[in-house]
Amino acid sequence: MNERAAALLDAAHNRSLYKTLGAELDAAGPELKRAVAGLARARGVDLPDDAETWPGKKLLRRARGLDALAQVRKNPIRRDEAFTCVRCGASVPPHGRSARDHCPFCLAGLHVDGDVPGDRASDCGGLLEPVAVHREKGRWILEYRCQLCGATRRNQVLLDGEPPDDWARVSSLAGAAG
Ligand SMILES: [Zn+2]
Ligand SMILES: [Zn+2]
Repeated sequence: MNERAAALLDAAHNRSLYKTLGAELDAAGPELKRAVAGLARARGVDLPDDAETWPGKKLLRRARGLDALAQVRKNPIRRDEAFTCVRCGASVPPHGRSARDHCPFCLAGLHVDGDVPGDRASDCGGLLEPVAVHREKGRWILEYRCQLCGATRRNQVLLDGEPPDDWARVSSLAGAAG
């Protein structure tokens, strides 16, 4: 199955082939689609969780990573890992549904990402100190400044986690915006 997925993925090297190879993928069924999506992810292509259910043509196009190359990537990379907070020492469990990118207790983060959340492209490693919070499109957004290099970052407040972000701390930052 994986060999067939690799052959299909490698064969789809230009746009005119997506339609025929996509139809082949649709006919082959969900198992091959899962294999193609899994292979693409292993090759570093960021595919959403429901990619296996897409039409074959769309899956191949995205699995080839051409959309990602054509437009500079802006979508966050999902990373949800347990960690020990370097600021308050708390053991922070993974969130489960979203990416846990800051401490729910003291709200601090680490400057490990570049311009794209989750890309781990920065080797700064400085402490991201929350400096403000604001409301945007129905979400609370934490604004950060790196204590080492001064870079600014933003993370979404997570109120549905276990534990959720400390609301008293979040709301105390609400007046500090701007
Ligand atoms: Zn902390
Ligand atoms: Zn930094």
